[in-house]
Amino acid sequence: MAILDGKLVAEKIQQGLGLEIGRLQSERGLVPGLAVIMAGDDPASRSYVQSKSKLADKLGIRSELVKLPEKAAAAEIIEVIEARNADPLTHAILVQMPLPAHLDPWSVIDRIAPEKDVDAFHPFNQGLILQNRGRIFPCTPLGVMKLLDHYAIDPAGMDAAVVGRSFLVGKPMAAMLANRNATVTLCHSRTLGLGAILREAGLVVAAVGKPGFITADMVKPGAVLIDVGINHIDKEPEFAKFCPASMHDAFKRKGYAITGDIHYQAFAKAAHYTPVPGGVGPLTVTMLMHNTVELCKRSISVTSDK
Ligand code: NAP
Repeated sequence: MAILDGKLVAEKIQQGLGLEIGRLQSERGLVPGLAVIMAGDDPASRSYVQSKSKLADKLGIRSELVKLPEKAAAAEIIEVIEARNADPLTHAILVQMPLPAHLDPWSVIDRIAPEKDVDAFHPFNQGLILQNRGRIFPCTPLGVMKLLDHYAIDPAGMDAAVVGRSFLVGKPMAAMLANRNATVTLCHSRTLGLGAILREAGLVVAAVGKPGFITADMVKPGAVLIDVGINHIDKEPEFAKFCPASMHDAFKRKGYAITGDIHYQAFAKAAHYTPVPGGVGPLTVTMLMHNTVELCKRSISVTSDK
C-alpha cells in the first residue's frame, strides 16, 4: 500500500503556479484577483477562508474577502457579486458554502458570471463538464484528478465508485472520471448493496462526511482509495473507533482529530490511498489558486480574441 501524498503534490503545483503568476505580472502586467464572499461567521468556513487568503498571499494572488452578516438577504450578496462581475481586477469569484439556511444557494451561484466562477458551481460550467468540454472544474474533484495523474494512475477502464453525489464533489467527480474513461457508479444514501458495489471497485472516492464509513470488508484488495471526507472527532470513544493508536498523543494534545470517511483499517488492503489529513485537502485549496490563475489567463485570451 502506497500513500498518495496530497501535500507533496500540492507543493509542487504551487511552485509552478508561483512562476506562472510571476510571468503574468512581468509580461502582461496582470495580477490574478480572487474575491471571496462569506455570509455569516461559521467557524469552519472562517478557517477555510483564512487558509485560502493565506495561500493566495503566498503565491502573489490579490485576494479580497467580503464579509456579510449572517442575516444578509440574497439581494445584498447578489449586489456584491455583480460589482465583482463588472470589476476587471477581479478574475475569480467564490461564494463560501454553506450559505446561511435562509438563502437558496442556487439563487446566488446563478448570478456569478460563468467566466469568473472559480468553483465551477455555475450550471453553465457544470453542464460543460457533463459534455466533456469543461473549461474550469470544481476544486476538490480537480485535485483528485491531479493526484491520480501525478502518481500515473489512469482511471481509463477502471471500475470506479464515487460515494456521495453533492454538486461540490460527488457528481462532478463522477462525470470527470467518466470523461477519463472509467466505468463509474455514483452511490448515495439510497444506494442498495453499497458493500457489493465497492467490493468490485478498483477506484473508490469517498465524499460522505461520516467517519470510518467505508470499512475494510467493503474494499477490494489492491483498490485505489481516495478519501475526500473531513470529520472532526473530539470524543474519546469515537477516536478509539475511527483513528489509529499512532494518532493518540496528538489527539490528547489538541483535544481533537481529523479523520476521513474510509476506516484506516481499509488502507492495508489498498494499493494506494490518500491519508486524512494530508491527502485531498491540500489539493483543494491549491486548485482554487490554479483556477484563479486559469480564469485570469482566460480573461486575456477572451479580450485578445475580440
Ligand atoms: P454532502 O453535500 O453532505 O453530501 C454527502 C453525500 O453523502 C450525499 O450525496 C449523501 O447522499 C451521501 N451519503 C450520506 N449517507 C450515505 C450513506 N449511508 N451511504 C451512501 N451515501 C451516503 O457533502 P459534501 O459537501 O460532498 O462533502 C462530503 C465530505 O467531504 C464532507 O466530510 C466534507 O467535509 C468533505 N469535503 C472535503 C473536501 C476536501 O478538500 N478534502 C472538500 C469538500 C468536502 P444523499 O445525496 O442521498 O443525501
